[in-house]
Amino acid sequence: MTPPPSPPRAWAEIDLSALRDNFRAARNAAGCELMAVVKAGAYGHGLEEVARTLAAEEVAFFGVANVGEARRIADAGVGTRIYLLGATWAEERAEIVGRDWTPCISSLDEARHFDRLAADAGRRLKVHLAVDTGMGRGGFVAEGLPERMQALEALPNLEIEGIGSHLPSADEDEEFTRAQFARFAEILKALGGPERFRWRHLSNSAGLLGYDRETCNLARPGLMLYGISPLPGHPLRPVNVMSLKSRVTLVRTLPAGHGVSYGRAFVTTRETRVATVGIGYGDGYPRHVSGHGAEVFIRGRRFPLIGRVTMDQIMIDVTDSEVAEGDEVELFGAHVRVDEVAAKAGTIAWEVLTGITPRVVRIHR
Ligand SMILES: *Cc1c(COP(=O)(O)O)cnc(C)c1O
Repeated sequence: MTPPPSPPRAWAEIDLSALRDNFRAARNAAGCELMAVVKAGAYGHGLEEVARTLAAEEVAFFGVANVGEARRIADAGVGTRIYLLGATWAEERAEIVGRDWTPCISSLDEARHFDRLAADAGRRLKVHLAVDTGMGRGGFVAEGLPERMQALEALPNLEIEGIGSHLPSADEDEEFTRAQFARFAEILKALGGPERFRWRHLSNSAGLLGYDRETCNLARPGLMLYGISPLPGHPLRPVNVMSLKSRVTLVRTLPAGHGVSYGRAFVTTRETRVATVGIGYGDGYPRHVSGHGAEVFIRGRRFPLIGRVTMDQIMIDVTDSEVAEGDEVELFGAHVRVDEVAAKAGTIAWEVLTGITPRVVRIHR
């Protein structure tokens, strides 16, 4: 006899129509074409499902972190062009050429290697030039770039189709970011004018929302597609996409003076109804929210987390409520925003979303 299926303790509901709406809103706000950034399993939302949904929209590229992610998109039967956002290993490059994915180039050595591999494959590979206008993570620095560009253009099997750079502080330093846009425009001018490049891109979500992008014709949003605005004051409010959920597994009444969870960092000050919920940091619910006033949503209202987050369970003060075993609990979603949870954990929404572990079943709607 096969045992009955064990229902998941924690799951993430992912609203693919909200994702589509956010993509369309991003496109309208950008006024140009988009590279949908789907690295890290589409920020934890499920790479294949997200790629299939957005491929039905007019997405120019999918931006991924590595060849493994590129493979998953291509193998899901999605024909949209794939762009590798970071540097590639030498061992990966033959496959990149073979599958016609688009790398960004940060050095002449990389470019020469791709050129040789493209010659071997008998094709011309489209690549984008990465330039470092302030991020300090990759790309050519502006100094000496025109000479390097000449060397790159001399490589017969590469087509330098695009140019991109990245914004380190579009959500916190407007002056620096404006200067970066200006620097990018100057670089384009020095390299023969914007028309020299079919694709010119600089903006992430915050750049797309907060700045004029005169010289660019492609933007690379990630976060806002998944329903979070990087600029909380901005009028465009993306729709929530992921809801992290679990259930109440136990409800008990503890007397005053009773410790709750590891370290006994919380001690009841009155008789307290305590709900135990089947989720913890082993699911990616951040342990660092402990003691910082985190709340969850049950039966139409918020309740406070008490005591530390454990690996598989958390405790909620549900005194003076009808909360019962089996009730659904929203850890974050439409009612408790993921950026609120992230702030209480002392981190950013990107980290919370990508930290949701494989144990959490993803349910796409
Ligand atoms: C991750 C990433 C993005 C997307 O950034 P968001 O802030 O999530 O919109 C864009 N460009 C590059 C190069 C990235 O690495």
